[in-house]
Parts: sequence; structure tokens; C-alpha cells
Amino acid sequence: MKKIKKVALIFGAIFLLFLIVTVYNAFAVKSKQPEPVTTTIQINEEEAVARFSEAITYQTISYQDRTKFDLPEFDRFIAFLEGSYPLVHEQLELEKINGYSLIYKWSGKDSSKNPIGLTSHYDVVPVLEGTEDNWEQDPFSGIVADGIIWGRGTLDDKIGVISILEAVEHLLSQGYTPEQDMYFMFGHDEEIGGDEGARVIAETLKERGITFEFVMDEGGAIVENMVPGVSQPVGVVGISEKGSATAELSIEGSGGHSSQPKSSTNIGRIASAIAELEATQFKHDLKGPGKDLFEFLAPEMSFGMKYIFANQFIFEPVIENILLKQPATAALIRTTIAPTIFHAGEQYNALPEKASAIINLRLMPGDSLEEVKEFIEETIDDEAITVKLDGSEATNVSSPHSKSFQTIQQAARNVYEEVVIAPYLMFAGSDAKHYESVSMNTYRFLPVQITSDDLQRMHGTNEQISVENYINAIKFFTELIMASDKLEATD
Ligand SMILES: [Zn+2]
Repeated sequence: MKKIKKVALIFGAIFLLFLIVTVYNAFAVKSKQPEPVTTTIQINEEEAVARFSEAITYQTISYQDRTKFDLPEFDRFIAFLEGSYPLVHEQLELEKINGYSLIYKWSGKDSSKNPIGLTSHYDVVPVLEGTEDNWEQDPFSGIVADGIIWGRGTLDDKIGVISILEAVEHLLSQGYTPEQDMYFMFGHDEEIGGDEGARVIAETLKERGITFEFVMDEGGAIVENMVPGVSQPVGVVGISEKGSATAELSIEGSGGHSSQPKSSTNIGRIASAIAELEATQFKHDLKGPGKDLFEFLAPEMSFGMKYIFANQFIFEPVIENILLKQPATAALIRTTIAPTIFHAGEQYNALPEKASAIINLRLMPGDSLEEVKEFIEETIDDEAITVKLDGSEATNVSSPHSKSFQTIQQAARNVYEEVVIAPYLMFAGSDAKHYESVSMNTYRFLPVQITSDDLQRMHGTNEQISVENYINAIKFFTELIMASDKLEATD
């Protein structure tokens, strides 16, 4: 009896200690959000909206087939910028790369400091054939009605180009000069990979020995109801992009008549290889940008969630299980597998001699192409199947603890006081990757509030933005340029 009592006492003491430590951890979690200093920037709304509305009317469309580009229209857009932003064009240097991508350089007071780069693109995706009539307003009308600006590019990404130029024109009109040099870099072919735009801009600047303190591109935005336990809207800033690769699984062998099939056929082997991959999945791990996201969100959560996230060393498996339940959060913690194409067979009574499948993979930072290929081969464990893998690995991971990141946070909070600004992992690609080689850190953030409907509209039908969001974007870039004055060298 006595012994049992003693054991119970020891267990009780351990449990109590556990409770004290874990509850303490939850209370010790401190907010990573800077105090907002409410913005006082005044924008002439009517004029700014008129310029944005006109910007939308230029059909600067990117096509996979470059010969389809309507280049005179791109020239007209550039001429429109020159006419609309006189101070920018008087006081900044403008350089054209490959004729259509633009670099504006604003000399600061101290050019020995690392410059800052803001980038976006003015090409837009085409309106999908057959969907023209589904638009409530013509996609290139730039119509403004009931506080909404309509058209291609209102979100992706003329909003970036125009709100940056609005911010600079505004600051120039106040006689403002930035501390360090600033570069505004606008690509003309982002939607087809940026090979003649952003990539060449970055190469050109690299040759000149330029290293940016940070570069900011489009990417994350302000969203609501993204994470359970966080009631405020969250502005997510991409600190890395997942890699994208294509795996081709193929098998060749004897076909034959379907009346006397072998027990294992080409279709069956490819199908079971895919089934095996889906059942196994890549190893998941809450690390890197996904972990950073929750580090920034945890302090803003309800106590229960805060308790769990503050004690990740115990609850990591629980957290990961929650994240694995939703595709959007599962993609945060593992390399994903998406079989997208299957080729086999032509005739109903003939066994195909070949079968192949394409799997689209999105790679976690740190997972190399080689490791991914090895994992696929080991998992499917079928020597007859050839695995070919092509693609790119994830980008570097930029720091969510740098002064640059804090500067972006501060600027965003000054405009959107209630919004929590946190780092995250982007699943889609952007021009930002081209700037990695010329920048200490690259961030991806469009300073507007978007809904899941907006996400659908971005490359789809009825792309639009509210006037309020647009004005806030201008204020954000103005705040960002001013806040950058206080940036010192990265720690
Ligand atoms: Zn874009």
C-alpha cells in the first residue's frame, strides 16, 4: 500500500511540474507584432482611382507563345505611366530591360547602404476563351462601380505597379528623399515565367554588384479564417516558395490480347505505384516557414491553442495531425504528390504495351530533387517502372526575424492595425525567386485583404478590387518606403 502511495505521489509531482512548465510556456508567449503607428497619409482618392482604372484598360497580356504579345500595347502602357507619374519620370532614372521590363532607380541620401527593391509585374493572364460573357464588367474596362474597380490586373498584379508608383509620386510631391537607394522593378512576362523580364533585371543588377537589403514582390495577402484559433485577419508574407517538379512514371513491356492477360499488366503496375505513393506520402514535419507561421500566430491565439503551440515539443504530433487534415495546411508541412496525367491504352481489347503517368510535386524547402526521386523509386519498389524527374527545388528561406521583415510588419500594421503579420510558405511561384541571388532576403506580400472568392477570380472571371483596398495598398507602400529609412544592416 505504502509503495503505491509513494508511486502515486511521485507521478502526481511530475504531473504538477509538467502542468506548471507547460502553462508557464503558454503565458510566456509574447506577441511578435509591432505596435501600430496609425498612418496619417492622405491620398487623393479620386485621382488615384482614375489612374488605376486607366491602367487596367491596356491589354498587356502574356501568352505562352511570345509571338502573340501585342507589344505596341505594352508601349502604350509605358507611355501611360510616363504621362501619369510626372515626378517619378522627372526625378527617377528609368531603364528598360529587353524593351519592356522597367527598372526605376530612386537615389537615396546614402547610396553606400544596401538598396531596397520593390517588384511587381504589369502583364496579365488572358481571359479564358468562352468565359468573356461571364464577366459582369468588361475585363479591360477598368470600370469603377459601387466602390469596386473591375478588370484583369486589379489583383494580379497591376495593383502592385500602380500603387507603388502612386506612393512614390506622393512622396516626391512632399519633397521626400529615401535614406538608401530604392529600385522599383516591373516585369512584363511574369505570367509565363519572367525569363525576359525579372530574370534579366536581376542578372543586370547582379553584374553591377548590387545587393538588396530586401526585395518585396507579390505573394501572400491578408486573409481571414485561415487558421483555427486566430480570430483576427492574418497578413501572410511569403518567405519561401515551394519547388515544383514533374515525375514521369513509365513502363514498357509486352502487350497482348485482353482475353488472356497476365496477372500483372502495365496499367495495373503504374496504377499501384501511384496508389502506393498516395498511401505512403512524403514525410511530414512542422519546420521552416510552416513552423515560423505558427510561432507568429500562437501569441494571438485563444489560450487553448496557445497552450498547444507554446508546447510544440510535446504536442508536435497532435499539431501535425490537425494540419494534415486540410490540403492547404498539409501542404505546409510536406512535399505533395498530385497525379495529373495518365496515358495508357487505345483499344478496348488490347493490352497496352506502354503506360505512363505524370505526377506534379511541390517540394518543401530542404527536399532535393535527388531525394524526391529516390523516395519515389523506393516507395513504388518496381524495377520495371522508369522514373524521370524534372523541375526546380524550393527557394531559399528568408528570415522572418530580420529588420527587413519587421519593417514590412510595421508598415502593414500602420495601415491595417488589427491585422497579424506572419511569415509563411508559398505554394505558387512568383518573380521573387529571380531576385534571390541579388538580395539578402526576399519577401512576397500584396498588402490587400482578399477572400477565397478573390483567389478564384485572380486568373479567372470577374477579377476586381475594392477602392478601399487599393488606397490601403498605396498607403502601405508609402509607409514601407518611409519605414525603410530606419533600416540598418541586417542582423
Ligand atoms: Zn502575378
